[in-house]
Amino acid sequence: MSGRPLLNRRLDGLGTTIFAEMSALALTTGAINLGQGFPDTDGPEAIREAAVRALRGGRGNQYPPGMGVPELRTAIVDHQRRFYGLNFDPDTEVLVTAGATEAIAAAMLALLEPGDEVIAFEPFYDSYAASIAMAGGVRVPLTLRAPDFRPDLDALRDAITPRTRLLLLNSPHNPTGMVLTRDEMTAIAELAVERDLIVVTDEVYEHLVFDGGEHIPLISLPGMRDRTVSISSAGKTFSFTGWKVGWVTASAPLLAAVRTTKQFLTYVASGPFQYAIAEALSLPDAYFTAFRDDLQTKRDLLADGLTAAGFEVYRPQGTYFITTDIAALGEKDALAFCRSLPERCGVVAVPNSVFYDDPDAGRTQVRFAFCKKQDILKEAAARLHG
Ligand SMILES: *Cc1c(COP(=O)(O)O)cnc(C)c1O
Repeated sequence: MSGRPLLNRRLDGLGTTIFAEMSALALTTGAINLGQGFPDTDGPEAIREAAVRALRGGRGNQYPPGMGVPELRTAIVDHQRRFYGLNFDPDTEVLVTAGATEAIAAAMLALLEPGDEVIAFEPFYDSYAASIAMAGGVRVPLTLRAPDFRPDLDALRDAITPRTRLLLLNSPHNPTGMVLTRDEMTAIAELAVERDLIVVTDEVYEHLVFDGGEHIPLISLPGMRDRTVSISSAGKTFSFTGWKVGWVTASAPLLAAVRTTKQFLTYVASGPFQYAIAEALSLPDAYFTAFRDDLQTKRDLLADGLTAAGFEVYRPQGTYFITTDIAALGEKDALAFCRSLPERCGVVAVPNSVFYDDPDAGRTQVRFAFCKKQDILKEAAARLHG
């Protein structure tokens, strides 16, 4: 073979995700894995049973409809109305995807021409850089800075050029736990309208906003109904991250564009699980409240433990994650710290530095997941303290 690299140049620098490296370390050292953000307890038993019933009943075992099974599309519409007062047509404005990940990739592949610029907060969720690159787009970071990680809206305005095609917005934000306020959302919406931008919103943590705060879907704001591709997923909300049921809600023309690429990625996925998630989305409000309260308790438990262990803790307003700073511990490099932590303390964490283009912005930031059993969180805190 020629000396030409096998992986195409669009994907330069996107080798193995940090989660694979750190989860492998967790396995070889037996450390507590607070790296990857998956719960260590499955979601509601009734929903697991719903999946078994669908599977046994022969529902979804063959290719489901390309848009998703009607029961799930209706349940998504009902959920958007119940929580946000939004109305969507289940036949033309809802698309079921293989998790939010596929929805994001499909949106980038559908909406970007090569060279189009995409503005996104950094630290980025790790699939963003890859999805933008695969679509030939150019990512333009808007850096969120400690301690509160609020976006600089003047910097956002300055970052918009004639080549900017879209904003890729994540709130509640992984990994910082920042949740955009109504004022920030409104300012972003006004900019999008003024500069005629599409906004793709990743809302997978929509039900994990703490301390009485609220999640505001950007698509609900004036001028945004026809320029927002709203993405969410069942994985985080129902603690079934392996089922990979996600969805897009958008105006019919935007949805049709995303569907065009999605149908050639997986075509369809997760047949029986789609029926189960239809039932999950119809759970009473009490489920969503109890889920959030449980995670808030766990946030507080781990935040206090990390503080006691000497970390600087940036208490998150939402999500599964706490970002910390290790400079207070005399450490200078998050990646090196995280590589040695399993051996030294028996805990796995993830360096936020790998989610930044600006190497200095997150050099001493380390992320811990708290979607774990309370005993595990206590044990992890004790090990870090010891
Ligand atoms: C977990 C996560 C996703 C992926 O969701 P899936 O439904 O598992 O594909 C997307 N965005 C963010 C910010 C996440 O944390």
